[in-house]
Amino acid sequence: MGDVMGLKGAGWIRTLFRRRWARLGGLMAFGLFAGWIAIMQFPGLVFWYSVSERGLTLRSDRPFDEARARWLLTQVRQRLDGAPYGQPAFTADVCIAHSEWRRRILFLPSLKAIGISYPVTRHVFIRSSRIESNRVVNAEGREVGGYFTLGHVIGHELGHVQMYRKAGRMRTLAVIPSWIREGYAEYVGGIPDFEFDSEGRAFLAEDASMRSPRPGAPPYRRLHLLLVFLLEKQGWSMERLTRECPEQQSVEAALRAWLQTQPPVKTIKV
Ligand SMILES: [Zn+2]
Repeated sequence: MGDVMGLKGAGWIRTLFRRRWARLGGLMAFGLFAGWIAIMQFPGLVFWYSVSERGLTLRSDRPFDEARARWLLTQVRQRLDGAPYGQPAFTADVCIAHSEWRRRILFLPSLKAIGISYPVTRHVFIRSSRIESNRVVNAEGREVGGYFTLGHVIGHELGHVQMYRKAGRMRTLAVIPSWIREGYAEYVGGIPDFEFDSEGRAFLAEDASMRSPRPGAPPYRRLHLLLVFLLEKQGWSMERLTRECPEQQSVEAALRAWLQTQPPVKTIKV
């Protein structure tokens, strides 16, 4: 009997401890989440070096070349203001995370991403970057090549933010298809050497440049072309595009048909 009472007592104490640990665990999880939200809203808490230009603030956890950063922000600002969802009063922080612990916190859903944006904040986060050479460094420690410059990646992520704000967060996530979201972000990021006719030929020929640059990634250049086709050649507005949300295949079919009816590009002999 005494033993039985003793066991019952031990069980009661164990339950109490378990509850206390569960409560402590819950409090810690809440604390971490609150800290994460605080960094999302006030990234200056963990990015201590900064410079501002035309409403955009570049932040980093390491010192950087201020003049070069201002030049970069000016370029991005022009892309943002010229985009269909551009808002002159829009302000945001662009945070470059060199340290591993910051990246682990800020890139949690996609640890290998070179840039990331969230619907809960207008600020965006970029991996290690070389501001001086306008390049981002990927998870393997290599500079990302091609047109994926630091300026492009910042523009791309802020393009996502523009869509969250103008089309609505819930609609962007639940209704607007990924090809439009990524295509618009690329459209804002911009491709410096973009030339519609040659991109169209690459599309018709199913050139490698029109496919995903790596497994699991969207075919960025292809989606960029689809957005240029609709917005600049067909006169669509972003309001119409995000309201009608056409399927990617149907837009590709329309582009293919349109390209095939265009006169061939004349080559000028000198
Ligand atoms: Zn994206």
